[in-house]
Amino acid sequence: MAFSLSKLKIRDHILLMILPALFAMLLFVGLFSYGYWRVAATMRFVKNAQFRVAHTEAVLEHATEMRSSVRDSLLIGHAPPVNAYHLSANALGHDLDALRAIESSNPAQMAAVENIASQITMWQQQCAALILAAGQGNRYAGMVAGERDEEQQFLKIRDSLLRLLEQNQTEAESGIGDAQRVMRRVLDLSVLTLLFFGGLALLLARLVNRAIGRPVQQMIEASERVSHGHFQSPLPLEASNEFGALAGSFLRMTQALRHEGQELSALKRFSEAVTQCTSENEVYDHLLHSLQEQFRPTQVVIFKLRPEEDLLEAVATLGPLPEALRDWPVMEGKHSCKAVRMGRAFRVNDITQEPLCPGKFALPKEGSYYCGPLIAGGIIIGAVRLEGLRDFWTPERESLLESYLSGAASALSNLRLLQTMREQANVDALTGLYNRRFCEDYARKLMAMARRKDAPLGFIMMDLDHFKSFNDIYGHEVGDRILRQFAKTVTQTMRETNLTARIGGEEFVVLLPDTGPKACEMVAERIRKAVPHMTVPSGTDKPLPQITVSLGVAIYPDHGSSLEDVMQSADRALYDSKRAGRNRTTVYVEEAETAG
Ligand code: GH3
Ligand code: MG
Ligand code: MG
Repeated sequence: MAFSLSKLKIRDHILLMILPALFAMLLFVGLFSYGYWRVAATMRFVKNAQFRVAHTEAVLEHATEMRSSVRDSLLIGHAPPVNAYHLSANALGHDLDALRAIESSNPAQMAAVENIASQITMWQQQCAALILAAGQGNRYAGMVAGERDEEQQFLKIRDSLLRLLEQNQTEAESGIGDAQRVMRRVLDLSVLTLLFFGGLALLLARLVNRAIGRPVQQMIEASERVSHGHFQSPLPLEASNEFGALAGSFLRMTQALRHEGQELSALKRFSEAVTQCTSENEVYDHLLHSLQEQFRPTQVVIFKLRPEEDLLEAVATLGPLPEALRDWPVMEGKHSCKAVRMGRAFRVNDITQEPLCPGKFALPKEGSYYCGPLIAGGIIIGAVRLEGLRDFWTPERESLLESYLSGAASALSNLRLLQTMREQANVDALTGLYNRRFCEDYARKLMAMARRKDAPLGFIMMDLDHFKSFNDIYGHEVGDRILRQFAKTVTQTMRETNLTARIGGEEFVVLLPDTGPKACEMVAERIRKAVPHMTVPSGTDKPLPQITVSLGVAIYPDHGSSLEDVMQSADRALYDSKRAGRNRTTVYVEEAETAG
């Protein structure tokens, strides 16, 4: 398996950065210890050499001092002052001993020192003989030869001492040179180490930057893209370390976000679509479509609540609806709907394991189901039931479904409210019949249809007889009761295709599509005959006098080419009925205008 930095964990990257620094530090410590040790040893050697130089110089100095005191005594012809001579001799002895002690470690030098020491002993004996002779006054007896010997001997000693001095000085200087060389080498090696490890650290920094910095940068760029809503662009990262893991979870997170975003925009589209719906069926279709798209259920049933009958009516389904599901009791019986009863969703994630809601659904052998109420403004207006795969329902999916259901519920509730408002605008509040405005609009539509079909459209205009006197005698309240009862009587006498409207105080119109004068007259007569049998409480002990109605019939297009014309014709026919004694029906004829 090939080595790759991208496989290293972050901890290993940090170790990789620290290692060169550690090596460099160790190397520096080693180099400096070695240098220190070498320089210290050399300095000890130099110090020793300098010491030897000093003692050699001292020997030479004291020898010279001793000789000058001997020379002085020879010149003046008697023994030298004892103190000066002995002091120099003693000092010379001490210096020689010290020199011997120092040179003991160096056999070659030691031999030279011993040689000088023996020469000095011999020379001192010569000096002692000369002094003795001088002290005895034998200055001129063989003195000259002795002095010459002594001089030569002294010169030899001096030469030997000077050589030794020179040697020691040379050693001291070479020691200093050595120390300088060691120091320079240590310095050179330090610089080289610094350069090498500095370069190595730079190289590693570049590599680690590629291995750590690049993925981090890529993650930042990917996050930026996601924050701008670009979920599609994948993360070009294949590291097998922590960054790989991070990239993996980032990818999963963006996918989840993307999915959630798609869900939200689908929900938004759904909400917009259902608010545009003009009928409940349209809302059901949108809901079915969206539920299928979002939840892939195997079956969906939408129920509408009919509270007065305590029934849930199945109004829309995905797939065929079993007959047994058409009407679903809400409160009573063992099949009562739990979701509607409790006002909250009921779901089963595994039909084979969990307790089911009591119902007459022919459930599949396995899978899940969800039953949620449709609630708008706190009022339950229906329910939706989904069947699907086992363990399908998670809190997130349930919450999404609830959003769909609440969107659909509020759209349905708005439609119903709108419908009520429309009806209120078209309906007369006292009688529940349509009002004049609606009647006229509707009449125009029926006239257009009649034109297309070339069929007649009948108009029956009605006016209660002497209604004012009922009001005057029994009060307005009783008058209202009569109006309500009359409206009811007319509607009961009518077919559903006919439309009855209250167009004035006690004036009414019936529109009869596909009905000619004869049939219209028959209908009018049926009404007229029914009215006197109406029972309206009078509010007193006495019953009300008989109530009657006068009617006028006109036919479109025979009795008028416009709504106004036909209405006017019907009104004239009614007027004729009034004039002819009331409680009767008149069909409009041209002559009717002149009849009265
Ligand atoms: P006619 O037989 O000629 O039609 O006589 P009438 O008394 O029925 O006719 P008129 O037009 O003189 O009187 C209509 C009365 O209807 C007058 C008004 O007080 C009464 N009225 C109109 N609207 C209402 C209503 O909403 N409630 C009640 N109680 N009375 C109404
Ligand atoms: Mg009237
Ligand atoms: Mg009237």
